[in-house]
Amino acid sequence: MIFIYTEKFLNYKEEGHPEGPERLKAIVDYLRKKGIKEFVEPIPCTEEDLKLVHTEDLINSVKNNDFFDSDTPNLPGIYEYAALSVGAAIMAAEFSAEGKNAFSLSRPPGHHAGRNTLGGFCYFNNMAVAVKKLLSTGKKVSVLDLDGHHGNGTEEILRNFENVIYVSIHQYPAYPGTGSVSFGNCYNFPVYPNSTSKKYMEKFNQAIEIIKKFNPDILGISLGFDAHMHDPLLEMPLSESEYYFMGKEIGKLGINFFIILEGGYNTQTIGKTCYCFISGLMKKGGKENEEDNGKF
Ligand SMILES: [Zn+2]
Repeated sequence: MIFIYTEKFLNYKEEGHPEGPERLKAIVDYLRKKGIKEFVEPIPCTEEDLKLVHTEDLINSVKNNDFFDSDTPNLPGIYEYAALSVGAAIMAAEFSAEGKNAFSLSRPPGHHAGRNTLGGFCYFNNMAVAVKKLLSTGKKVSVLDLDGHHGNGTEEILRNFENVIYVSIHQYPAYPGTGSVSFGNCYNFPVYPNSTSKKYMEKFNQAIEIIKKFNPDILGISLGFDAHMHDPLLEMPLSESEYYFMGKEIGKLGINFFIILEGGYNTQTIGKTCYCFISGLMKKGGKENEEDNGKF
């Protein structure tokens, strides 16, 4: 697996905001400890890339720091960071199209950004841009959104498009209040707050069946770790062993994939949880919650 990352992603923050650089740093530090030391440097996306899914109004408002959202800080240079995050996502998608699975370890996240709206810590929709690039080359793509929140922006952008489905498992009710029903090419699996992990995994298995049936060329995974039981923002039930299991089940599909980091706000658990998911993916079998030596 190829890991796309740059320390530039750690260079902005708003004091006290849950989407801080320490999240990504915790993941990368954990991966390094496990022997993953090579990271490919991303390049920023172009404005043309952003225009594939976003309005000029949104692009300009981020570029000119001319916006307000109570959750999504208006910080100096945020356009450059957001464009770099989209660039990392595109790079991951392009690797997967060449048969090399890749993981974009980036921030800011993207799945709440709609065509003309930012929100939920997201400025531009990393996944939607990456998917539109793949679709333009004739690929059939499935998005699996495992963040604990519903990816309302990705759904809004990809709904009714040919050759793509959006599949999401998320807490409902919770921010952003969408994702209670499925329609068209969007398959939503809402999970009530404080449900059991068994309940969650039933939905996960249903989601996997839908992806199998659709039989995509490429699977894009919006990966958040806020469905973890110790995440401070949600009331979801998962532990490291479910993340390992989900990785393993996805790996068994045998579909080329790319991963984009979305949320996950417990810096104590996020690194190990991420590593367990990757271990499951690359192992495609073996003991539950087993960690290996990091040599994939
Ligand atoms: Zn989330």
